[in-house]
Amino acid sequence: MTGIAVNHHMMRIGGKEVDSGQRMSIIDPSNGSLVATVSQGDATHIDAAVAAAKATFESGVWSQLAPRQRASIMRAIAAAAADATAELVDAEMSANGATIRQATGFHVGWALEHFAYFADLADSYVWQQASPVNSFPALSQSVVHREPIGVVGAIAPWNCPLLLTLWKVGPALAAGNSVVVKPDEHTPLSMLAFARIAEENGLPPGVLNVVPGEGKTAGARLASHPDVGKIGFTGSTQVGREIMRLASDTVKQVTLELGGKGPSIVLDDADLDMAADGVLYGCFVYSGQICVSGTRALVHASQHDKFVERLVARAKTIVVGDIRDWDTDMGPVIDARQKHQCLKYVREAQSGGAIVEYGGCVPAGQQFEQGFWVAPTILSGVTNDMPIARDEVFGPVLAVIPYNDDDEAVAIANDSDYGLAASIWSTDNARALQMAARIQCGNVWINDAHQINCRVPFGGYKQSGLGRELGPNALDYYTQTKTVQVDLSAGHSAKPYGPVLLSHAE
Ligand code: NAD
Repeated sequence: MTGIAVNHHMMRIGGKEVDSGQRMSIIDPSNGSLVATVSQGDATHIDAAVAAAKATFESGVWSQLAPRQRASIMRAIAAAAADATAELVDAEMSANGATIRQATGFHVGWALEHFAYFADLADSYVWQQASPVNSFPALSQSVVHREPIGVVGAIAPWNCPLLLTLWKVGPALAAGNSVVVKPDEHTPLSMLAFARIAEENGLPPGVLNVVPGEGKTAGARLASHPDVGKIGFTGSTQVGREIMRLASDTVKQVTLELGGKGPSIVLDDADLDMAADGVLYGCFVYSGQICVSGTRALVHASQHDKFVERLVARAKTIVVGDIRDWDTDMGPVIDARQKHQCLKYVREAQSGGAIVEYGGCVPAGQQFEQGFWVAPTILSGVTNDMPIARDEVFGPVLAVIPYNDDDEAVAIANDSDYGLAASIWSTDNARALQMAARIQCGNVWINDAHQINCRVPFGGYKQSGLGRELGPNALDYYTQTKTVQVDLSAGHSAKPYGPVLLSHAE
């Protein structure tokens, strides 16, 4: 703690800033200093936010606008938020330890680009679709309407918080819903700022409410609230299961984006220099704290030693340090618990026979004594049954696993409870494409990593998730269909089944 006065941020409920009297501290992971305090909400504040969202939804001020009007307001919000990029970047990086490069390009840049894409979807989405006229059993026609669900709850993690929250808020708003966001305890600042900007730029008060608070109180109430019709969640698989349970009592729709243990498969024909850079980028960007991080490098046995050598040589050039310096490549991990978890996994892997080729400790230097630092770490001698290869460590720890042929590479890649993202490194696209077809993951990159394109669907197989975000169908997950059928026969259709069924009943 610095002892310097810091800003206090309040919840946003029904268009007003609300103070709960309880305070959460926001800590800079790079130096452990106090960045800000935030009002901590609980179940009663979630109830107030849901009531505000419900009232606004029913008033029609947003839900009844023409989609093109919603699109136009959303575009204005995206533009105003882009003007406030410096504020949003600072809110992100000071709370989650992303480097300024990462926070600017990825966390905030993509978040606003994707939000604008959701605005465009409101314009282009097929809101009503008429069927061809049916002649049997009656002359009739159906129209399928896409309608908003009502109140949507969004529960977000601390990694890339603005981006991952807007993946829910964007399609929910485009579809005409009202939203209550429960940000992660570490990182509510950027979403509070975004909600303020949204209201300053045309979003009616009460359409977007933000209640920071703990998961087991505020989050759990949102996931179980009877007036919430849908939960969009990103976070750990463990909490995702709990969200499903909580949502089941009132049969809510849920979309879950959960954990991962991404394999980066280096084929024996790969360009090893390119693959080494790509595998390091896939694992160490944002200190390995991305659900799609490639934390298992599967390397053909014939290339293994050469490849590990290259990985280590290049890892030595990764600049770890001041997150506010544009030349820095890697920052800290989110908190002390995460730091200890990373180092514990490394120690346990060593006891199980793994070799620390690089890192495996806190980086040397006075600047790493404060805050939560783990050096980029490369382990060889890992087998896929070790906890380091099975669990989502969520830190800068790369486990290198050798394999002997393509079948074995596929088997190891798929031998995981997770199935979010994989990368394949090869100079033969046809071979890599054939392998991609066999990988049980929702996203496969060939000679690339972390390529998130808002125009295509994103999500996980197996325990990495349920449903999809992004892509042209993103609004499907925040709408429900209503099928209206009109009898066109003016009472003259045969309706053969009615009398028959009636006569059977007699
Ligand atoms: P987490 O699951 O601990 O927390 C996520 C959110 O859930 C937080 O807002 C938290 O307060 C809330 N929460 C916790 N317990 C709750 C409960 N009982 N009821 C309701 N809400 C509750 O995850 P985290 O540590 O913040 O984030 C890291 C995890 O998120 C990793 O597992 C990562 O892989 C995953 N993630 C997945 C994706 C994806 O798109 N698949 C993206 C980013 C992160």
